Amino acid sequence: MHGLRRGCAGRSIGNVDPMAWAAVLDLLLPSVCPRCRVAPGPLLCPGCAADLEELADPCPWCAEPRAGAARCPVCDDRGLPHCDRVTVQWVYDGALRDLVGIAKIEGRAAAVAACAALLPPLDVAPGSVVVPVPPSPGRRPGPHLATALAAAVARHHRLPLRRWLRQVRPAAEQHRLNRADRMRNVEGLFRARPLTVPVVLVDDLITSGATVIMAAAALKAAGAPQVQVVALGRTV
Ligand SMILES: [Zn+2]
Ligand SMILES: [Zn+2]
Repeated sequence: MHGLRRGCAGRSIGNVDPMAWAAVLDLLLPSVCPRCRVAPGPLLCPGCAADLEELADPCPWCAEPRAGAARCPVCDDRGLPHCDRVTVQWVYDGALRDLVGIAKIEGRAAAVAACAALLPPLDVAPGSVVVPVPPSPGRRPGPHLATALAAAVARHHRLPLRRWLRQVRPAAEQHRLNRADRMRNVEGLFRARPLTVPVVLVDDLITSGATVIMAAAALKAAGAPQVQVVALGRTV
């Protein structure tokens, strides 16, 4: 606490790094819901959890809602290229959108932990390693949500966490682009180190799928016999 007090006393509130404030808030408010910051925590309270929306019967190959249809209306059961399976439970909206915003923009560790607690159950291939979609080069310091989620998957399944993917060049933020530009933006974006084991590839959100497709392509090109994808949320 001495270091924190010195840091706060030395600068006006307006100049304090928001990430430092996030760390202070987590220390002062360790047991409240990270979304409403009122109800008891440390995970999402029942009221906030009621604002989560589950994907309706997600396709196991692309995670689009298939809502009982015999074949996936989006991928026709062909799945996302290079991805052997895609597991996502939640719609990226409501409480999940808020929580991910708090985790990514404010960098609050309590929100990151609450996100990890929402990861779906998984069947993993024996001998798998867990690989996060990596942060962009030069990103600001603070928790990286996909890496934190990958660490949680690795802990839960007692698998090794391996940062075997790297991003080889800067790219525009995907959410600012249309669908065609998203694929071009991430073409050849990742490289993986050589490997021979199945991979559980973890990302926070899937929108067009372009990022996980390119990450899985790099892992397959490097020798991965199987890539299964898990993400926290999907836009619909
Ligand atoms: Zn709450
Ligand atoms: Zn599908």
